[in-house]
Amino acid sequence: MLGNVMTRRGMLQVGGSAAAAALALAAKPGAALIQSGGAVRATGRPLPDGVALPQTPAGRKRADSVGFAIVGLGGYALNQMLPRFAHAERAHVAALVSGNPEKLRRVGDAYGVPQAARYSYETFARIASDDRIDAVYVVLPSGLHAEWTIRAFDAGKHVLCEKPMALSSADCARMIAAGRRAGRKLMIAYRSHFEPHNREAMALMARNAVGRLRLVRAEQSYRMGPTRPSENWRVSRALAGGGPLEDYGIYGLQAALYLSGEMPESISATAFRPAGDPRFAEIFAHVASQWRFPSGAVAQLVTSYDSAGTNLVHARGTDGALIMDPATGYAGQKMRLEGRDARTISPGDPDVQFAGQLDHFADAIRDGTPIRTPGEMGLRDLRLIEAIYASAASGATVRLAPDGTMRA
Ligand code: NAD
Repeated sequence: MLGNVMTRRGMLQVGGSAAAAALALAAKPGAALIQSGGAVRATGRPLPDGVALPQTPAGRKRADSVGFAIVGLGGYALNQMLPRFAHAERAHVAALVSGNPEKLRRVGDAYGVPQAARYSYETFARIASDDRIDAVYVVLPSGLHAEWTIRAFDAGKHVLCEKPMALSSADCARMIAAGRRAGRKLMIAYRSHFEPHNREAMALMARNAVGRLRLVRAEQSYRMGPTRPSENWRVSRALAGGGPLEDYGIYGLQAALYLSGEMPESISATAFRPAGDPRFAEIFAHVASQWRFPSGAVAQLVTSYDSAGTNLVHARGTDGALIMDPATGYAGQKMRLEGRDARTISPGDPDVQFAGQLDHFADAIRDGTPIRTPGEMGLRDLRLIEAIYASAASGATVRLAPDGTMRA
């Protein structure tokens, strides 16, 4: 019986990840189990529409500026991160890696990257002897993070890896081990840790600004247009895992942790995949989970690719509430306290989060300062994601050890 197969051990066997097992269970009774993804290769894509490339490359700011090789020239790299290197004090674009030669040429010219520092996926290993490159920034689809992080460590470089760190805790552990072997640093690009509203929210909660925390609520959703796995990696299980939770819900998961300052001791969850919708042939449409913390506080997290857009986080305590809506975007954050100390809070421009994380990693590389969002944090989060899928698959509450691993 399927139910018997879905023990934790069984899940790990089915497709290499808890998301795979949960997805298999979400398939209609009698339907074939969803095939496991298999190896996916990094491949080139054309320059996305509407990308604004700079007319003049940014100059270097400091002699000890850290040179980054950017791997994956997609929407986030081109529209958000590459332009923000100009705002960083100690980080610059030293090299580009792409599978599309025409895009590589145009982006390389715009950012002033020398011909010799333009790599393809096939020539990537040669970065090992390129002293212009100190660090690799992995901005590929999530299912490729582990492979390219490990390749970068094998080339002797430090790694800044986009979220989610990987699609399984086993891959996260392999990435951390590769970094240790190479004696290089690993940071996960959790930009909210560098965003003034979220920083202030952490400080307020640490000072008990809402009294004793009782409830956290997080909602991260948007409605995805018509698409299918062959044309959009975000709906492909091999590249996106279970879908909205790894991509968007992870912001709510992170907020629940950094606002509570606790790890959940148990999680119960449900995940939904409608039949007959090509968007959800391989991933979930919604994932909802309920967490219990040792303090007695609870969290409710929902995330969806099929609901009108929202990005809110509420933390409600015995004396008030912290309302963040929108909570973790690129821009436009709004935050207020309700209750005892009711007020609106505008601690700074959210835009600093992008360059802030680059400079933070540069400082860690050059000065040995501690990394706020290390690989161990990404691993912790993947453990919780696996617990969410395990509970969704079994219908049972999952109990957790303090490091987020599931208790037998
Ligand atoms: P995208 O689809 O716009 O770009 C993906 C890039 O990867 C493209 O350049 C594409 O050519 C390349 N690629 C290589 N192999 C591929 C393959 N097999 N299939 C598809 N593309 C392939 O995606 P994106 O929105 O730029 O996301 C990239 C990463 O950045 C993801 O890990 C995502 O989670 C992360 N991201 C982070 C934030 C954030 O705010 N921190 C925001 C958006 C995306």
